[in-house]
Amino acid sequence: MPLDLNHPDIREGVAKLCAEFPGPYWRKLDREMAYPAEFVRALTDAGYLSAMIPEEYGGAGLGISAAVAILEEIHRAGCNAGACHAQMYTMGTVLRHGSAAQKSTYLPQIASGALRLQAFGVTEPTSGTDTTALKTTARREGDRYIVNGQKIWTSRAEHSDLMVLLARTTPLADVAKKTDGLSVLLVDMRTAKPGALTIRPIRTMMNHSTTEVFFDNLEVPTANLIGEEGKGFRYILAGMNAERILIASECIGDAKWFIEKASSYAKERVVFGRPIGQNQGIQFPIAKAYADMRAAELMLHEAARLYEAGENPGEESNLAKMLAADASWAAAEACVQTFGGFGFAEEYDVERKFRETRLYRVAPISTNLVLSYLSEHVLGMPRSY
Ligand SMILES: Cc1cc2nc3c(=O)[nH]c(=O)nc-3n(C[C@H](O)[C@H](O)[C@H](O)COP(=O)(O)OP(=O)(O)OC[C@H]3O[C@@H](n4cnc5c(N)ncnc54)[C@H](O)[C@@H]3O)c2cc1C
Repeated sequence: MPLDLNHPDIREGVAKLCAEFPGPYWRKLDREMAYPAEFVRALTDAGYLSAMIPEEYGGAGLGISAAVAILEEIHRAGCNAGACHAQMYTMGTVLRHGSAAQKSTYLPQIASGALRLQAFGVTEPTSGTDTTALKTTARREGDRYIVNGQKIWTSRAEHSDLMVLLARTTPLADVAKKTDGLSVLLVDMRTAKPGALTIRPIRTMMNHSTTEVFFDNLEVPTANLIGEEGKGFRYILAGMNAERILIASECIGDAKWFIEKASSYAKERVVFGRPIGQNQGIQFPIAKAYADMRAAELMLHEAARLYEAGENPGEESNLAKMLAADASWAAAEACVQTFGGFGFAEEYDVERKFRETRLYRVAPISTNLVLSYLSEHVLGMPRSY
């Protein structure tokens, strides 16, 4: 990446902040399945979570390459940005498609940390990846929408004030294309009437604060409709490339953490009278993971460069996300193998990071769906679904 897009000062600052949150902090939270509130507060106070909010709304006004640097360094330090990364890309939906009034109301408060926009309600239990089949409805009644339905995997809903929600405003039977008739609402969860919004945590193999959310006649003012009614699917799609780039950054950070851990341990651990790292059987998986990580990193930088130049690089963002998720998983596997039995002991953090990095081959988009995108949109083969 050109030096001006690499942001060495930001990287140094993030690394310093992360050093205040070492392994024991994350291990304790992991055991209790607790939210890293102090870590998120520190990132907010340092201005990192508002890096991409324009200066006129109180943010730093930086491009996506700054967010890439921030998220990568968080993960490289052994921390996890999953507790707060959503703000960086969901904020884009408000910024790009919100009205002037919505932007001036919400963005400065998000930038200052007074309001948290961490929840993104798209996935539903019955529709899964087939987003346009979602069943949550928002029916217009005067100056309100009445929302009914259910979301699943709505991460951080318990630790957020606002939710970007995708719901059907026109029944599927009444639209020409199934991508029409979906709308984005900015839900202020603090104003929900009792019983209208129920959030239930889902326990997962890693500490991720994810939930299922039930809407029972939840009232949302029509003033909170983002953009035009019925065009919401397009707005969500427009934000996907940014999301892919940011998640790829976390994967690259994870891969670097695993590679660093594994190669250091391989140099120190002596078995049969010599460092295990002297054996090619130990060296090669780590070296291969390094090669995979570097290749994925180049693709990530290319995607970020194009995005920052004003393009919407679908191919590069998808490639970066898939290759980086594969690279972090390969690095995780090599790291566990290098540590042997100690790879399973909590105190080394390897098993925790191993569980955490597995997510990225499934969410926010699974590897199969990236391959489907490439097959159809890049290679021109027929759509498979
Ligand atoms: C921890 C966690 C956090 C999440 N956070 C959020 C969040 O904050 N907000 C949100 O909206 N969602 C969130 N998600 C949901 C996530 O985006 C989905 O899990 C992911 O997109 C996959 O969808 P699914 O789980 O419904 O799988 P399904 O759609 O049921 O798919 C299951 C498997 O089948 C494969 N598959 C499906 N269709 C095809 C096809 N046509 N061709 C080939 N393979 C196919 C998929 O690749 C996948 O491997 C989260 C998920 C997890 C696990």
